[in-house]
Amino acid sequence: MVKKYLKFQKLSGISPYIWTIFFILPFYFIFKSSSTLVIIIGIVLTLLFFSVYRFAFVSKGWAIYMWAFLLIGISTASITLFSYIYFAFFIAYFIGNIRDRVPFHILYYVHLTSAAVAANFSFVLKRELFLTQIPFVVITLISAILLPFSIRIRKDREQLEEKLEFANERISELVKMEERQRIARDLHDTLGQKLSLIGLKSDLARKLIYKDPEQARAEIKSVQQTARTSLNEVRKIVSSMKGIRLKDELVNIKQILEAAGIKLIYEEKQTPASISLLNENILSMCLKEAVTNVVKHSGATTCRIDVHQQLKEVIITITDDGCFKGTEQYFSKGHGLLGMKERLEFANGSLQIDTENGTQLTMKMPNESKIKEKEGSK
Ligand code: ATP
Ligand code: MG
Repeated sequence: MVKKYLKFQKLSGISPYIWTIFFILPFYFIFKSSSTLVIIIGIVLTLLFFSVYRFAFVSKGWAIYMWAFLLIGISTASITLFSYIYFAFFIAYFIGNIRDRVPFHILYYVHLTSAAVAANFSFVLKRELFLTQIPFVVITLISAILLPFSIRIRKDREQLEEKLEFANERISELVKMEERQRIARDLHDTLGQKLSLIGLKSDLARKLIYKDPEQARAEIKSVQQTARTSLNEVRKIVSSMKGIRLKDELVNIKQILEAAGIKLIYEEKQTPASISLLNENILSMCLKEAVTNVVKHSGATTCRIDVHQQLKEVIITITDDGCFKGTEQYFSKGHGLLGMKERLEFANGSLQIDTENGTQLTMKMPNESKIKEKEGSK
């Protein structure tokens, strides 16, 4: 019970206390009146107000107007009879929760006008009582002006956030679907063709087996070769489906550099955690290509890899102390650097090359994947 209460309080802050004070306050004003009849009217009006207020919140369509006008009527009567203006708070909150534009604006202006007119009237009739609470009256009137709009804006924002969340879920579903289609396409283009080739060639070999055994043997050999390449392709597809994590790629890189006699400088603790799997896979592929280039072209003795996880992106730099062998047009000769650039930019990342002292590649990749993987892995 206590836990439940604490949870409720955590969620709603101090607002329940403020509402309670506003609930009790009318009675103070009512009992200040001299005549018993006015006191009875006051109590009835207050109880009626809170009952109607509850109905107003659960009603829909035209009933909203009915309850709202009734609330405005009770509030106007309370201001005129007891100089009690604070019902306006409740009504402003209620109006702020109306989603349709037209009812919102109609009720907003009707409420504001009636509250202002009644407050003026009360000011003329009970100037002293009214003057004692003038700061609160001003605050209430300002709230009646601003509260509905602020609640409406907050609700709109919540609705937008919900839509955004839905859109993100949809995007990740589409990415999955696209990936499935890509796998289907890969299987069709590789395995499908190879299997029908195997079928044709083995059929031919069966027909030739007595007529031309030599030719039949050659066909069978070709079938064997095709089966082998198919197996390799299946392996490639499976490994591309698994995706490569940066952590695993770094282990591979260590071995490659060690075998090439190049010293690796890398601080282990920096492996990024909050990057999406798709973007991490792209980074891993690029990292592998960069290190292959170091081994193939640089003639370096050391290679330094830095991985920085930042708030919105991961930055990886690969620096070697060799000599850049390419031309100023970095992307003209081979496919490696160009492929890296294309892949990174496709995922809203970037590639920067600095070839002044050795070669330094800087790859930047956002944490979130905002694209669908449209191309197959090269
Ligand atoms: P591929 O990657 O398609 O097998 P490649 O490695 O020659 O071929 P790129 O990776 O695009 O092609 O590299 C382009 C050229 O830039 C290389 O041929 C090489 O001359 C030069 N280069 C790239 N990286 C380095 C490096 N770390 N050190 C020295 N030269 C480099
Ligand atoms: Mg290369």
